[in-house]
Amino acid sequence: MKFTAINFTCPSCGAPMKFSPVSGTLKCEFCGTESAIKDTMETIEEYDFKKALLKLSKQTPQLIDKTIDCSKCGGSFTLTPYSVSSNCPYCGIPAITDFIQEITPRSILPFQIPQKETKERFKKWAGSLWFAPASFSKYLDSEDELKGYYLPYWTYDSDTITSYRGMRGDIYYVAVARTIVRNGRQETVQVQEPRIRWTHVSGAVSLSFDDITVGASKTISRAIIDALAPWDTSRLKPFDERYLSGFEAEEYTIGLDNGFEFAKAKMNSVIEQAIRRDIGGDQQQIHSIDTTHNNITFKNTLFPIWTASFKWHDKIYSYAINAQTGKISGERPYSTAKIIFALLAAAIVIGGLVYFRMEQQNYTSIQHSETYDYPVRF
Ligand SMILES: [Zn+2]
Ligand SMILES: [Zn+2]
Repeated sequence: MKFTAINFTCPSCGAPMKFSPVSGTLKCEFCGTESAIKDTMETIEEYDFKKALLKLSKQTPQLIDKTIDCSKCGGSFTLTPYSVSSNCPYCGIPAITDFIQEITPRSILPFQIPQKETKERFKKWAGSLWFAPASFSKYLDSEDELKGYYLPYWTYDSDTITSYRGMRGDIYYVAVARTIVRNGRQETVQVQEPRIRWTHVSGAVSLSFDDITVGASKTISRAIIDALAPWDTSRLKPFDERYLSGFEAEEYTIGLDNGFEFAKAKMNSVIEQAIRRDIGGDQQQIHSIDTTHNNITFKNTLFPIWTASFKWHDKIYSYAINAQTGKISGERPYSTAKIIFALLAAAIVIGGLVYFRMEQQNYTSIQHSETYDYPVRF
């Protein structure tokens, strides 16, 4: 289906303007003219979850490919159904188009970390991984490998009441007679041995949650996207298309109801900790949990993320950076050669004459991937 796209042109020279994370303004790449994005006085609202679900149940979701004719070069290109902002593949000018989902973002966290700084952070991160292959560091030098995305997020608020049943365990000590051998002679001594006393308990805890964030895109794996948290939602701005200019942006592909299931899982782990504190004692068992959610509200919003992927030994490793805080999340490639070398070096130092045999599975098994959290530093 044909869609029209907008872009912003420089008042001085007519070239396209893109959002600059450095200045927080629209900036002309050609002559450097800046144009400020004034904050509207619009407050960022929370919306009623149940009312919205009711409304959504009456709609059938539509998936239409968006065909756009570039206003500058006339080239025609097709966006994925859920893409709302991209760049013309022929001339590179920004193309911002319409949302098709029922719920559209009313707020946005603008990009704060520019591409150049992101690259430096990636390099530093890769450099700190002694086991990463050299080609990984080289890859980070290549141009245009980072892609900036505004990805859709849901945030949920909920007042919860949870009733629970479980057991409280209290440790106490009993004196037990033990026979020991001292100076070749048998002796009987008293020792204190711990025991646990379990008591049935039940109770209720109530917790209020504010802005539980859930990624609503399938573009990046959930493990990577979850590891990018936390997000500072107190810095949300009212939605403005100008923030999208030059960046990719998507609307949600994980619905409001599904998103809430992910939010519930996040809330549950906090609720469980509260129950353990409520039970008290030295150990706790939780046998049943029953949570009621009240006053559920939500927001649909866009968060800024830099992404990169690196192909090595036929496997693709994906990375993402939280473009608000700089936190890195991703799978790290392991260089088998570096690991063997390090193990051998260690063996030579420690073992000397010890016969050292490296078995095949000792190092191939290390080649799995995992999520890595990079500490946030400012
Ligand atoms: Zn200009
Ligand atoms: Zn074009």
